[in-house]
Amino acid sequence: MFSENRDNDRNKYDDILMDFSLHSDIDIDKNTFLAIEDIDNRQWICYSSYTGTYTIKPFGHITADMIYECLSRLKNDVHHNKLMEWYDEIGFEYDAETGEKDAEFLKPYILQLQDVILNLGKYRKDPAKAEMKATLLEVWKIYRNAKHFSTWKDIINLSEDTEENHKKKLGIYTQEDIEDIKKIVKVNHASAIELNNNMYNIHIKKFFCFCDYVTFYDNNNVPLIGRGYIARTPGDMFAADLYHVLVSGLAGTPRLCPRCGHIFYPNNKSKYCDDCKKDSPSIRNEKRRQSVRYYHKKVYDKITQSKKYDDNFRNAFMNESNYYWDIVQGKEVIVNPLYKERIKTETQYKKWLEKKLISL
Ligand SMILES: [Zn+2]
Repeated sequence: MFSENRDNDRNKYDDILMDFSLHSDIDIDKNTFLAIEDIDNRQWICYSSYTGTYTIKPFGHITADMIYECLSRLKNDVHHNKLMEWYDEIGFEYDAETGEKDAEFLKPYILQLQDVILNLGKYRKDPAKAEMKATLLEVWKIYRNAKHFSTWKDIINLSEDTEENHKKKLGIYTQEDIEDIKKIVKVNHASAIELNNNMYNIHIKKFFCFCDYVTFYDNNNVPLIGRGYIARTPGDMFAADLYHVLVSGLAGTPRLCPRCGHIFYPNNKSKYCDDCKKDSPSIRNEKRRQSVRYYHKKVYDKITQSKKYDDNFRNAFMNESNYYWDIVQGKEVIVNPLYKERIKTETQYKKWLEKKLISL
């Protein structure tokens, strides 16, 4: 763990930040902080000289937060409204239209990253260790700028531009077309490289700058040393945090939240991410819904397994049950006079299914 009970250190950290601010493009304001990479305890120690407070972030949490932010920009995401409220709160000028479009484009890439992260165990077990490490490093290189959504989107877009894609779009093409396409692809790839370089320059100038090695102490007053960086948002540490997730293996083991579909680092045995857990009434509701449909499945299985009933019987049950289920969910249905049960609620629906199950 980390001890902050040393008055001298506070001054020392303030000095480090001040000194570095003088030599970089970064001014110290209320957002600026010193991020210390505490390898021994696998965490970031963030010191804000403005408030004089420390925040601890275990390795991997910044990566999970970035994924949360990107996926939650989509309107149909469970946490969309919460993210928008947070943007309002911190006064982030968010252009919803562009943000949503970018997120839509980036979603498959982010899901791919989640997939790699969730399967790291498998990668690490692979006997071809050198190759696996090289693959993970490649993934890191591709994603290290992912925090800067719009620019990253443009880099991917331009670098994935190929002759094949153009040919698909054109259908029929002449030799002249091919020459033109080749030129376009070449220019686009050059632009992607240029954007990437710009990103790198911004990184070292404005986002995440290495200051110096910083001494700090654990709870037993054992001195430790870690790289110190000057940063403005936790996102500035994203590239370094992702490195610990993918390559160094120092981040914990994440899980996939079954409700929102984002990865998270569980503090305990929790199945759901923290934000979904806060929505526990709706989780309970979802669970209850699932359990009602579980009875539907039980009836279906009993009909299928029994020799007494044919496919027509099974289909008739399915149609009727789905009809009531639609009503329960508040969907619009075309009224079918054949279905005589007055089912409006989940409880009534469940009772009907239970009766059906016994009658079979
Ligand atoms: Zn969740």
